[in-house]
Amino acid sequence: MYKAKAYSAGSATSPLASTSIARRDPNEHDVQIEILFCGICHSDLHSVRNEWSEFMATHYPIVPGHEIVGRVSKVGSAVSKYKPGDLVAVGCMVDADCTCPNCKAGLEQFCPNVTFTFNSPDKHKTAPVTYGGYSDSIVVDEHFVLRVPPNLNLAGAAPLLCAGITTYSPMRHQGIAAGKKVGIIGLGGLGHMGVKFARAFGAHVVVFTTSPGKAEDALRLGAHEVVVSRNAAEMKPHTGSFDFILDTVSGNHDINPYLALLRLDGNLTLVGAPSKPLEVAAFNLIIGRRSISGSSIGGIAETQEMLDVCGKHNITSDVEIIPIQKVNEAYERLLKSDVKYRFAIDMASLKSE
Ligand SMILES: [Zn+2]
Ligand SMILES: [Zn+2]
Repeated sequence: MYKAKAYSAGSATSPLASTSIARRDPNEHDVQIEILFCGICHSDLHSVRNEWSEFMATHYPIVPGHEIVGRVSKVGSAVSKYKPGDLVAVGCMVDADCTCPNCKAGLEQFCPNVTFTFNSPDKHKTAPVTYGGYSDSIVVDEHFVLRVPPNLNLAGAAPLLCAGITTYSPMRHQGIAAGKKVGIIGLGGLGHMGVKFARAFGAHVVVFTTSPGKAEDALRLGAHEVVVSRNAAEMKPHTGSFDFILDTVSGNHDINPYLALLRLDGNLTLVGAPSKPLEVAAFNLIIGRRSISGSSIGGIAETQEMLDVCGKHNITSDVEIIPIQKVNEAYERLLKSDVKYRFAIDMASLKSE
């Protein structure tokens, strides 16, 4: 074991602060990574404050962070995919059983024995739970390490590992391509990535927003049209016309007006997680054989595919780079949606701690 620098929170009400944590020495299948950038995901904040206690109670101290980009510093003797110096990434998971039907189908994210990057029981017993990317290094089995295309801006690439794959995967699952009409509800960390991918797939892209002030930015990011969802007169002409709508909103909201916009066999996929159960008018599904789904990140192979597509189209997240000393302030700003569109922590700032 060795000591790594990190930022952790000791309780649901304490701020993140500098600490040192134990990391395992790389075993034969492990890759040791010097972390260069880590994105700030809203689930970091939910976990730090134990807001998802019913589903996954937080074990303290917690070191969050699952949008990790870095450089390989050491590899185990059996590692074949990576060598020191390679640019790599780690997303929301660091292990799975790799034997269940979901793993065999390349859907490790749905493995009943998946190990998430932080706050999951640590199989290696280095610590009670896994510690995430708000740290200067991490050690991960090579199967769960991704390759970063060298042309991508590294800070902007970090959020691809959660916000990126979360929006990419459902669009691939629904076969989004040229000729399809795609709606994106909400223009935040997830939504802005959804716009970029839908556009890259060749779809006609419409952004739904409650703030007319976001229209200009939506168009800049690649949307063809912007609809202010509160304005029924703007919604109506789109009735029955969408192949797919991606709902990225985590606040409580009514999805029925959007279901009415789907065409025959159209699908609305939820990637935001409102706290209250949704109400759905059955006729909004019956008429037009429409469906609602949920989706969670993507498997390892699909995540690599997403990164490669990003390399080809030069797609990254729009980020505001911060030193780790500003992380608590960034959380407060995140709560006010005061970021365009993702924070990325420059981990060089951890060296002075
Ligand atoms: Zn995330
Ligand atoms: Zn499995």
